[in-house]
Amino acid sequence: MFAFAEEVCAISITGYSFIAYCPECKEQRSASCAREGLNERLENGTDVEVASVTCGHAWKLSEQERRNLKKMLKEGTL
Ligand SMILES: [Zn+2]
Repeated sequence: MFAFAEEVCAISITGYSFIAYCPECKEQRSASCAREGLNERLENGTDVEVASVTCGHAWKLSEQERRNLKKMLKEGTL
């Protein structure tokens, strides 16, 4: 039971949270994406999908945002 709770907790902290532009709301939203494989996707230039808990939308980051994210990851500010 405890092990299960710990696993749930681990899942909630395996994502990154940041501010991104939601193309549907046309506004900046608090968005998050999976931590797993993020570095590889940023390196490869593969699409990074994010989701916002604020508006419930999911979208792909723009190239500029991917670049910003990569920079933040490198600087450890994320
Ligand atoms: Zn939205």
